Amino acid sequence: SSTVYHEQDADAAALDDETVAVLGYGSQGHAHALNLYDSGVDVVVGLREGSASWEAAEDEGLDVRTVPEAAKAGDIVSILVPDRAHIPVYNQVEDHLEAGDTLQFAHGFSIHYSQIEPPADVNVTMVAPKSPGHLVRRNYNRDQGTPGLLAVYQNVTGDAETKALTYAQKIGCARAGVIKTTFQEEVESDLFGEQAVLCGGVTELIKLGFETLVENGYSPEIAYFECLNELKLIVDLIYEGGLENMWHSVSDTAEFGGLEEGRHIVDDQVRENMQEALERVQTGEFARKWISENQCGRPSYHQLRRADSEHQIESVGEDLRGLYDWNDQ
Ligand code: NDP
Ligand code: MG
Ligand code: MG
Repeated sequence: SSTVYHEQDADAAALDDETVAVLGYGSQGHAHALNLYDSGVDVVVGLREGSASWEAAEDEGLDVRTVPEAAKAGDIVSILVPDRAHIPVYNQVEDHLEAGDTLQFAHGFSIHYSQIEPPADVNVTMVAPKSPGHLVRRNYNRDQGTPGLLAVYQNVTGDAETKALTYAQKIGCARAGVIKTTFQEEVESDLFGEQAVLCGGVTELIKLGFETLVENGYSPEIAYFECLNELKLIVDLIYEGGLENMWHSVSDTAEFGGLEEGRHIVDDQVRENMQEALERVQTGEFARKWISENQCGRPSYHQLRRADSEHQIESVGEDLRGLYDWNDQ
């Protein structure tokens, strides 16, 4: 099982002589920059000129510079732009990395799949909060923490992990727990999870359930509620207290039917499909496909998104949600 670090494991002074350059001020960037700053760490924010977020960062009292200027000032350069911008941003950072500096990430894709090949004389680390940035910031402000992952890819100074753990502490992650992992494990499990379960698996399950009911003459509105809307209630129960908590809360008919029939729906064929998807992640086949999509204007991506958005469940859902939109207010 994994090593989990807590507040007392971190050396609170490990960043005292370091300047952290936070590149990007979006979801993760604003949270890391503000939490580090409020924790007393020297922070500069790096953005492109004319960036929409430049003023927002300055309004918070942060020192904002261009990407190369920030990278020059930083001993730890935290790449917090979207993954598709890692290469162009890294190209502006490379010349400003000195021996013993640290390249810091919140997701390992560009390193693990060799999109970025850092020089051999810098540390390469990852601190990846397991939640969107606005929660990382909100939890910090409430003296709460956000669980995070920590990984070291290159350790040239001998204390790369110490610094990364302190970084995790200063953004609030150690208050909850910092799980030690590797770039490989973080990337492969993240891609697999979103493909097989969270994004890919769930949406296909929803659509198949909806289609099966509608094709058999049931009303689309009923099918929407049964196969999509109620999913939130089920997920909330699982999130709060695990599978057991959900089984405990639904009717015993739902419990028996779910246990008995679920394994016939998601059967050994699905297990094999998952295994194959994992292998495409592990061999880099998926990464190569996604990188080449991006190089030629994302044709399959746009086509798949369009097909999904034109699915009947989307228009039915939009109409139905309009009937009770006070739920969101
Ligand atoms: P965002 O899309 O929120 O980042 C937007 C910021 O990046 C903006 O400040 C934007 O500036 C800047 N930016 C975009 N392109 C460039 C560029 N070419 N040059 C300079 N600045 C640029 O990213 P996220 O916070 O979602 O993701 C950052 C990293 O964190 C990624 O590696 C992601 O995988 C990881 N991560 C994200 C999580 C999340 O929940 N969002 C969770 C855990 C990890 P401008 O205003 O100029 O466009
Ligand atoms: Mg430097
Ligand atoms: Mg992901």
